[in-house]
Amino acid sequence: DYGFFNGQFISLDSASVNLEDRGYQFGDGIYEVTRVYNGKCFALDRHLARCRRSMRELRIPITYMDEELTAIHYDLIEKSGIKDGAIYFQFTRGTSKRTHAFPDQVIPNLSMTIHESTPNAEQQKNGMRCITCEDIRWLRCDIKSLNLLGNVLAKQAAHDKGVDGTIQFRKDNNLITEGSSSNFFIVKDGLIWTHPTDNYILKGVTRSILMEEIIPKLGYTVVEKAFTPEFALTADEAFATSTSLEVTPVIEIDGQKIGTGTPGPIAKALLEEYQKLVQKECY
Ligand code: PLP
Repeated sequence: DYGFFNGQFISLDSASVNLEDRGYQFGDGIYEVTRVYNGKCFALDRHLARCRRSMRELRIPITYMDEELTAIHYDLIEKSGIKDGAIYFQFTRGTSKRTHAFPDQVIPNLSMTIHESTPNAEQQKNGMRCITCEDIRWLRCDIKSLNLLGNVLAKQAAHDKGVDGTIQFRKDNNLITEGSSSNFFIVKDGLIWTHPTDNYILKGVTRSILMEEIIPKLGYTVVEKAFTPEFALTADEAFATSTSLEVTPVIEIDGQKIGTGTPGPIAKALLEEYQKLVQKECY
């Protein structure tokens, strides 16, 4: 496995983190996960735009142009020889003596890794079983920050229960926000519902592609409106989206079947169209 750190390509076993990297001490940084299909980056421009936005929101200065980040993506693909996988990259505010406020004269650290992987075709075909749990994250979930403890605990709760994923809901208003690392949708009476993009969810790249390019093309309608876990249980279909899940049906929540308890026709159609788009862009 291969990596990149502040201008140099490295093998992962030779890389080390400075103990006073603010990402390490404060989670003071942001990240992206991008997908590589057939040696090509998919939707990289959208990820780079979101990366820039996350950095702006946290007042981390931009030190790489999009063209450079794109070139490093392709160098990692070439050097690793990986055709199908995921690239992780993060910017931290930099390395400095530990103090909460932003240090003066600090330059962000960029690290990147590439790993081989492919979407879970079996799960896409058969669907995921999920549980719900309270969303205990902070109030800026729109920033893809390195602070992922709420997401980690949510996902671990699913592992502990022997299911595939977790859907988070806010305790103050009993509304579902999103998955632990995915956006969440339901279908009821032919209409698609999902949480609006505000500070309570991450605006997923996959979500945006679906809403802007795929749902209108297939003639479906989506409403950006939050709903309760109880309402979700009355849905005809449910599904989750992310860079790694693409579109994956959710067939069960808290032990109760959604619809027929099998992947629904709209989720299937959206996945098929998404994969067609990947084919068109990367093959
Ligand atoms: N929501 C959260 C909390 C996430 O961590 C992710 C992705 O990791 C998503 C949604 C989906 O985003 P994307 O489609 O850009 O991968």
